[in-house]
Amino acid sequence: MTRRHLTLLCIAALALSWPWLPEFTVTLFSYIALYSLVAAGLVMLTGVGGMTSFGQAAFVAVGAYATAWVCTSPTAAAALGGVVPAPLLPWVGLLFGLLLTFLVAWGLGAITLKLSGHYLPLCTIAWGLSLYFLFGNLEFLGGQTGITGVPALTVFGVSLASPRALGPLIWAVLLLALWALHNLLDSREGRAVRALKSGRVMAESMGVDTARYRVKVFVLAALLAALSGWLYAHLQRFVNPTPFNINIGIEYLFMAVVGGSGHLWGAVLGATLITLVKEQLQDLLPKLLGASGNFEVIVFGLLMLFVLQRFAEGLWPTLARVSGRFLKPQPVKPAKAIAALDARTLPAAGELLLEADRVTKRFGGLVANNAVAMTLKAGEVHALIGPNGAGKSTFFNMISGVDDPTEGEVRLLGAAMTGKPSRDFAARGLGRTFQHVRLLGNRSVLENVALGAHRRGHRGWIASMLRLDRAEEAALLAEARRQIERCGLGAHADAPAASLALGQQRVVEIARALAGQPAALLLDEPAAGLRHLEKQALAELLSQLRAEGLGILVVEHDMEFVMNLADRITVLEFGAVIAEGTPAQVQSNPRVLDAYLGGSDEEPMAVTA
Ligand code: ADP
Ligand code: MG
Repeated sequence: MTRRHLTLLCIAALALSWPWLPEFTVTLFSYIALYSLVAAGLVMLTGVGGMTSFGQAAFVAVGAYATAWVCTSPTAAAALGGVVPAPLLPWVGLLFGLLLTFLVAWGLGAITLKLSGHYLPLCTIAWGLSLYFLFGNLEFLGGQTGITGVPALTVFGVSLASPRALGPLIWAVLLLALWALHNLLDSREGRAVRALKSGRVMAESMGVDTARYRVKVFVLAALLAALSGWLYAHLQRFVNPTPFNINIGIEYLFMAVVGGSGHLWGAVLGATLITLVKEQLQDLLPKLLGASGNFEVIVFGLLMLFVLQRFAEGLWPTLARVSGRFLKPQPVKPAKAIAALDARTLPAAGELLLEADRVTKRFGGLVANNAVAMTLKAGEVHALIGPNGAGKSTFFNMISGVDDPTEGEVRLLGAAMTGKPSRDFAARGLGRTFQHVRLLGNRSVLENVALGAHRRGHRGWIASMLRLDRAEEAALLAEARRQIERCGLGAHADAPAASLALGQQRVVEIARALAGQPAALLLDEPAAGLRHLEKQALAELLSQLRAEGLGILVVEHDMEFVMNLADRITVLEFGAVIAEGTPAQVQSNPRVLDAYLGGSDEEPMAVTA
């Protein structure tokens, strides 16, 4: 039995037993599905995308109030001109709620998602509270009393008035949503969303417009919450502000985190556990303590502490590990078709790729780069060396769009790049690796490398959710595998990136850069942490890439490696170029010898070339 079989079995069991379950259980299961829908959105937003929100309850409220208002308000009836028959009103309410949520979430997201660190979660609390009080104070939404008389949903003439009738629809919506989200995560767009978590710089360098993706995930999570609100309004048949307060917003986040915020099924697990435990505690505690009061909140809080202490990743990974012992792995289906990826015509050898024109960077009073001029041509390896703090990494940031020069200009394949984001550098043909490795540690090497090919594919979110992207996805993965094998890591393609040695992780970064088919490749200390034989293999790979016409700019401390490989060397000291030339010229330059032997903490230059 595979995991998919088990899932289908559970769904079938629930479906078959549904007519015979007690009323109370049916209601409970319906609520669990409603909560799971919101928590699944939070898994995408928080667990996968790395943005914490305490304010999801407010979007549930938008969905619930929108349909309640459309279905009951005379104003709404007048606005619709009486042309919509009553059974269709909830569906108008759904469209209205989703549209409203889309607009509100996009607006809020565009403003607040720029914030980083703890400012974003604080902001979500702020608008969670404001929306909650807004609903309580709007006269036409019934104030604190809310709106009663919300009609039942009617589907094909069948009225879904009871939880037993509506529950299957709620579960169907949840399962469809999980399927779509699962597909999304298993696609090019999903990889881009995952990349958000490991920071803006890396994702942008792979060509991902991070600001846009952040807003899109935020809107997606909000829409799922609104969908849950719509179903809730027609299950409960009345709406008031109480179930949308900030406590509930926090509880949704608990569900996602306790279940395992990195896993979609974790949302369902978390929603189930928290709903059941709260239910039990509410019954049990007053009996045990012989007094009534909100004891369950206290015990619940303590339980939460325990779970988060013991299972930092949530409960799902543990459950998956245990069940994994009894389940067969899901067989991977080969793709039926393979699409063609975008390919670029690489510049001819000797052509000018990258040009830094008197690039200066000041950090306050410190001049990290002082009028640095340098070029990189197709078909050469150009090394940038210099003692620690000389300004090499700063220069890398200037020529890859991570940071803007204070003065001077950077040109890439003839185009002025000043002020452009690094994804534009990537689009024009720049690939890079990082001094401090930036990989998604718990994703496979293959997925990490496929991210590098991000901008060579085009299928969007909807196509990914509906699995219409399979041919393109197969091509992206095939390209990733090709680059991994070329870099000598074929045996590790399916292992989590974090399980590799640090030196190998650097090579994974090279493969990731190559998947983007760059014309110019920037490598920040690629040989650090590699063993002797691995260094030789890396040097061979870089020579081969050079022969294919790539221009490679490399920062490296291993002088033997540099001297054997580089065609030209530029030496930086205190932010300024002190020498430039062939390895032989640089090695005999007195200023260079002075810089390296005169009290710096670097390796001396006296290495045989
Ligand atoms: P290298 O990579 O050659 O070791 P860096 O480019 O990292 O050197 O640093 C060059 C100088 O600029 C150092 O003195 C460093 O402290 C300073 N520096 C680098 N980044 C910043 C920053 N964001 N703010 C202030 N100073 C910085
Ligand atoms: Mg550095």
